[in-house]
Amino acid sequence: MSKKDKDLPSWREAWKLNNRAFALLYQKYPRMVYPRILSVIWRTITPYISIYLSAQIVGELAESKDVGRLKELVLLTLMAEVLIALVGALLVKWNNCENAASHFKIDLLYVQKLLKMDFMDIDNSKTHDLLYKIRQFYNGGGWGIVRVLRIYEELFSALLTILFGIVLTVSLFTSRVPGSAGAYTLLNHPLFLIAVLAVMFAVIYLAPALSAKGDNYWARNANKQQEGNRMFCFISGFINYKGDLAADLRIYRQDQYMAKHSKDKGGVFGSSGFFAKYAAGRMGFCFAGSAAVSVVFTGFVYAFVCLKAIAGAFAIGEVTQYIASITKVSGGVSTLVRMFGEVRNNAPFLQENFRFLDIPNTMYQGSLTVEKRKDRDYEVEFKNVSFCYPGSDTFALKNINMKFRIGERLAVVGMNGSGKTTFIKLLCRLYDPTEGEILLNGINIRKYNYLDYISIFSVVFQDFKLFAFPLGQNVAAGIGYGKERVLDCLLKAGFLEKLAKMPEGLDTYLYRDFSDRGVDVSGGEAQKIAIARALYKNSPFIVLDEPTAALDPIAEEEIYSKLNEIVEDKTAIYISHRLSSCRFCDEIVVFDNGRIVQKGGHKELVADKGGKYYELWYAQAQYYVV
Ligand code: ADP
Repeated sequence: MSKKDKDLPSWREAWKLNNRAFALLYQKYPRMVYPRILSVIWRTITPYISIYLSAQIVGELAESKDVGRLKELVLLTLMAEVLIALVGALLVKWNNCENAASHFKIDLLYVQKLLKMDFMDIDNSKTHDLLYKIRQFYNGGGWGIVRVLRIYEELFSALLTILFGIVLTVSLFTSRVPGSAGAYTLLNHPLFLIAVLAVMFAVIYLAPALSAKGDNYWARNANKQQEGNRMFCFISGFINYKGDLAADLRIYRQDQYMAKHSKDKGGVFGSSGFFAKYAAGRMGFCFAGSAAVSVVFTGFVYAFVCLKAIAGAFAIGEVTQYIASITKVSGGVSTLVRMFGEVRNNAPFLQENFRFLDIPNTMYQGSLTVEKRKDRDYEVEFKNVSFCYPGSDTFALKNINMKFRIGERLAVVGMNGSGKTTFIKLLCRLYDPTEGEILLNGINIRKYNYLDYISIFSVVFQDFKLFAFPLGQNVAAGIGYGKERVLDCLLKAGFLEKLAKMPEGLDTYLYRDFSDRGVDVSGGEAQKIAIARALYKNSPFIVLDEPTAALDPIAEEEIYSKLNEIVEDKTAIYISHRLSSCRFCDEIVVFDNGRIVQKGGHKELVADKGGKYYELWYAQAQYYVV
C-alpha cells in the first residue's frame, strides 16, 4: 500500500461502508433498486445474443452460403433486435421513473435525521459543517451514498459480462491449430497461451487502475476545497434567492470572499490552484494513460484471434464472435477493477455520511403519555434548575425555581442575554437542565414521551419561520384545515385587514418561492401569522418570545389590549425586554445574568427602587417622555 493510499480507509472497511450504504438505500427505497437490477441483466446479456447471431450469419456467408438458412438467420436477428430494444426501452422508462429525483430522496435521509436529532446537536455548528461537507461531496463529484447505487450496478453488470463473455470465448483458447499449419502450431503451446492471457489481463487491469488512481487524487483532496465551495454556495444562493441578504452582499461587496477562492494565485479554483495543477499533471496523466492502454488492448486481441483463424483453428464466422466477446470481457474486467477503486475512493465520503447519520440521541426518551385534560389542569414547576450550554463553562441559567399556575399570564423580562429564551428552550425540552429538574404535574418531564409532552405547548419563537405555502396551511401547520378556525385565529392576531387585500384569501401563497402570485409579508405581519399559528394549535400553554418585537407601536398596542381575550383560558408566558408590554400580567419574573432576581406584579416591582425592574422600567420610560 503506498503512503498516500493509507489516507483512505482499508479495503475491508471500504467494503463494509459501501455495503452498509447499499443496505440502507435498499431498505429505504427498494423500488429504486429493482429496475436497476433488471436493466443490468437485460443490458448485459442481450448483446451476446446479437454477437452470437451475427457470428452465425458471417459463418453461413463464409461457408455453406445457404440462402434459405441466411434468410432465417437475418429474420431471427431482426426480431431479436426489435424485442431487445423494446424491452430495453421499457426497462429504461421504469428505471427513470423509480430513480427520478433520487438526489432529493437521498437528501431526505439527512432531513429526517435532522428532525430526529437532539436539539443540542442541531444547535451545534459542527453538525451543520458536516452536513455541508456531505452535500458538497455529492454536488462536487457525486460521492457518498448515492454513488453506491451506481458502483453496485456496474459491479453486477461487470460480473455478468465477464461470465457470459468467458462462456463464449473458452473455445478461442481451447481450439487447436491443425498440425499442418507449420510455425502457427506454436499457438497451441501452453506457455504461449499463458503469455497471451497474462498480457491481456495486465493490459485490462492497467486501464481502470490508472483511471481509479486519477479519481483517487480527487478523493484525497476534496477537503481542501471545502471552504471555497461553501462560500460559493452560500453567496451565490443568497444572491439568487434572498432579496434582503443580496442587498447587504452588494453594498458591502462580500463577493470578495468568492474572488479569494477563484483568483489565479493561491485560489483553490484558480488556474494555479491544486486541482488545476493535478489535472495538468499526475491526475491528467492517469486518465490519458488509461484511455491509451484500452486502445492497445483492442489491437492485441485482433492480432491473436486473426492469427488463430488464419492458422485454421476455427472458421471465419467465429472471428466476429471471439473479438466481440473478448472485447466485452475486457470491458467487464475494466469496469470491475475501476469499481473496486471506486469502492475504496468512495469510502472516506461514506465515513462522513455515517458520522452524520450515526449522531446518537443522548437525551433520555420517556414513555409516559401526557393525560389529555379538558380542564387544562397542568402545572409546570422548575426546581433548582441550572443550565450550561454544551461546550460552555458559564451558566446561562442558575438556580431557577418557579411554578406556572393554570390560566396565569406570566411575563419574563430582563436584558438581552439574561437567559429568557434559554428558559423557554428548557421548558420545551429542547435541552435538559444541567442541574435540577422540571416537573409536569409532579413528574420529571424527561419521563414523558417527548412528542406528547411538546403537544401541550404552542410557541412563537423569536426567530420563528413561516413557510412559502398558502396562508391557511401556514396557520394550521398542515394541509387540511378548518377554514373557520383559521379565520378566527387570524382575526384574534389582528391579521384580517391584510387578509382582505390578499388576492386568493387563505389560498394565497406567502412569499414567491412557489407561486408568482405569492405575497411578501412584512416582519410585523409575519409575526401576526405566527401568533395565529400558535393559537390554532390550541395547546394549554402558549409561549410568546418577544411576540411584538417586529410590530409597530400601534399594532403592539392592538395585540396587547386584547391579549387576555386572545389567549382565553390558556396559561400564557410572554418574554419581552419591553417592560411596558408586560404591565397587564398577573406575575412578572425578572431575569438578570441567568438568575431570577425579582418576582411580583407591576405595581409592586416598580415601587422597589433598588430592584432591577425599577432600573429597567425607568431606563425605558425615558424614551417615552415627550
Ligand atoms: P435572552 O433570551 O434573555 O436574550 P438567552 O437565553 O438567549 O438570553 O441567552 C442567555 C445566555 O446564554 C447568553 O449569555 C447567551 O450568549 C448564551 N447562549 C444562548 N444560546 C447559546 C448557545 N446556543 N450556545 C451557547 N451559549 C448560548
